[in-house]
Amino acid sequence: MKNLIELLQAGVVLGDGGYLIELERRGHVDSGSGREKVGTGRGSGQFTPEIAIENPEALRELHREFVHAGSQVLQALTFFGTREKLNRSGYGSDTERINAAAVKLAREVAGDRALVAGSVSRTQLIEREGMESLGKASDHIGEQIRLLKDAGVDFLILETFFHLAEMRVALEAAARAGLPAVATMSFRPLVDRCSDGHTPAECARVMADLGAVAVGANCEQDPQRMLAVLREMRGATRIPLAAQPAAFRTTEICHSFTRLPAFPDDLETIQISRRHFVEFGGMAQTEGIGYLGGCCGCNAAYIRALATGLGRPAHSKPV
Ligand SMILES: [Zn+2]
Repeated sequence: MKNLIELLQAGVVLGDGGYLIELERRGHVDSGSGREKVGTGRGSGQFTPEIAIENPEALRELHREFVHAGSQVLQALTFFGTREKLNRSGYGSDTERINAAAVKLAREVAGDRALVAGSVSRTQLIEREGMESLGKASDHIGEQIRLLKDAGVDFLILETFFHLAEMRVALEAAARAGLPAVATMSFRPLVDRCSDGHTPAECARVMADLGAVAVGANCEQDPQRMLAVLREMRGATRIPLAAQPAAFRTTEICHSFTRLPAFPDDLETIQISRRHFVEFGGMAQTEGIGYLGGCCGCNAAYIRALATGLGRPAHSKPV
């Protein structure tokens, strides 16, 4: 099995995703829809990954579907798996167990067919407590990255960061752990700046300078709207771009689906079809996208659509 760098050199790497919204639709993950309950104790999480220890078979099944669709990478479901975020859903004391179990499950399914990436996202501390909590966020992210390294991930996907400052500490922690990292920011409410005021071009430059092996965007926008972000980043760095768009339609005045009233309970009303992902896969090469996957709203059908766009045959046999 080639490593990530070798795969990127060989062509567009097809990833997977998304996990949490798909698993929420299947009844296994809490969306935090009853928002007043979020963070009040066990079972009051908001898209937290305790499914890795509570219903591993459901997670294994989704991994199998992605491999069958053509994913060359499986992300361990460790998104929102810092102790900080897990504390809020009542699973803080299971932080080690959840991260280890998620990596083990992904590895079991991946075998020698796919690499395993640890998924690391923002802590949500900056959004709640402001920039003075950056040191605390850095400690939590550093802890999770050490756990993922111990569990044996091949590389990291640092994703859905709203503040470049928090992405910076995550990339520094990845470097300390000696793990290659794909780094993608999420832009909201508009695609022109991240939450601490940096343009996509500035984000790309900083992430590349901090050692990311691919930089880009994930979540919040559909492929078409994300393209503007990616093209701006393309002009700022020569390393491969990474794109994991959402499968939800946004509006001219709000470019982020999580800020639309349809989130989280009416998402089907803004779902876009997989046809857009066939087209996006078809343009990946010419747009300089080296890492391609899906985020919220995508499932294996959308990954298969990307594979089709890339001109890759679907796997003939179920995994
Ligand atoms: Zn997403």
